[in-house]
Amino acid sequence: MIYHAIIIGAGVVGCAVARALAARRSAWKILVLEKEPDVAMHTSGRNSGVIHSGFNSAPGSLKARFCVEGSRRLRAYAVEHGVAMQEVGTVVVALDSGDESVLRDLEQRGRENGVPGICLIDRDRLRQIEPHALGVSALHSPAGAIVDSAGIVHALAADARDAGVEFGFFKRVRKISRKNGHFRVSTDTDRHEGVRIINCAGLYSDKIARSLGACRDYAIFPFRGDYFQLSPSRSTLVRSMIYPAPNLKYPFLGIHFTRKVTGEVLAGPNAVLAAGRESYEMTQVHLGETMSMALDPRFWKLVVGREFRTMAWEQIQTTFFKKAFVSRARRIIPDLRAEDFSRGQSGIRAQLVDRSGHLVEDLVIERQDRAIHVLNAVSPGLTCSLPFADHVVDELLKQE
Ligand SMILES: Cc1cc2nc3c(=O)[nH]c(=O)nc-3n(C[C@H](O)[C@H](O)[C@H](O)COP(=O)(O)OP(=O)(O)OC[C@H]3O[C@@H](n4cnc5c(N)ncnc54)[C@H](O)[C@@H]3O)c2cc1C
Repeated sequence: MIYHAIIIGAGVVGCAVARALAARRSAWKILVLEKEPDVAMHTSGRNSGVIHSGFNSAPGSLKARFCVEGSRRLRAYAVEHGVAMQEVGTVVVALDSGDESVLRDLEQRGRENGVPGICLIDRDRLRQIEPHALGVSALHSPAGAIVDSAGIVHALAADARDAGVEFGFFKRVRKISRKNGHFRVSTDTDRHEGVRIINCAGLYSDKIARSLGACRDYAIFPFRGDYFQLSPSRSTLVRSMIYPAPNLKYPFLGIHFTRKVTGEVLAGPNAVLAAGRESYEMTQVHLGETMSMALDPRFWKLVVGREFRTMAWEQIQTTFFKKAFVSRARRIIPDLRAEDFSRGQSGIRAQLVDRSGHLVEDLVIERQDRAIHVLNAVSPGLTCSLPFADHVVDELLKQE
């Protein structure tokens, strides 16, 4: 059997691409290879579950283009497919005048990106929306929503399966070679042939791309995001999503509060370099991956910057010391106490770093002859997934 296309990775991107490709080429034989026993076992099942409304992304970026459309489409998709979703809205609070200027920038970005209903609000209006949040003013985006992110991935995979896509689980791709114009994909247990490859391997997408001679300028560095969970009795202090004003120099949003569709409230995530691409616990060290990161010149270019080191040091403290995490979170909701927080899940960002050691902000895809590599599918990758998948399929079919 020679597949028309082999997709590597069954996170939200791989499943959305499989669904979109099957819809466009119904006669094609499509195979998704996933190393885990199910879909959404990594980043797509370990995120905040937020459907972002699109004011954080720089205008003109792919993220800006796909986030607003993706938000609208993902909310509709969740309703159609019976996946839990609530339109709770988002507030970003300003604690001082410096933060207020960041909020004005975000509002401007939101307007340019076409985010519906976004506006700056005063302290009284903030109190009506989030009575326990501190802030001299805030940015309010009513389009912000929360969703069962793993539920979305399962629904996308079910759509793809209904359209004839095959899924192979427990199949870690080890090697890809080209033979007679086809790709030969070897997994731990078997081998598959395909005419086209779409690499959606998340944290390992740079390695897969490099094995085919792509991704020469970039490397993925894993940034872990740890969450704490509020005790059920204190979850009532958060009604929607409450963010601090972000540092726009970094693609991290700062420790914030998110109500989940199950009613729990998460605080976090922070952003700390992880000692392995799937090292979800701070004690988990993958020696080989840590060494290869430390030997990469991009790593030293990244950490040499004073501002990055200051940010990294603050973030490291929030990982090792609950007190540091809680004190950051209490800047937004001072009524909370340390005993209200217990350690929760963590997720890892597949953050692309370029040759000069800069954290790449936008979604990146690289094309080769009949191969597409999805690199840097970082936040808000869940929100962007539906239009982004269409874009990936367009790029693939352009080559026909
Ligand atoms: C802490 C955190 C919070 C986030 N919060 C949000 C949010 O609230 N809203 C939002 O829009 N976005 C959010 N994001 C971003 C979003 O989760 C990601 O953009 C998205 O999940 C990326 O999906 P993916 O399919 O690329 O990666 P993944 O979900 O990681 O999927 C990649 C898959 O590839 C598989 N794979 C890897 N290597 C191989 C191999 N060699 N062979 C076979 N299979 C392989 C993996 O097992 C995995 O299943 C967040 C991200 C993080 C880290």
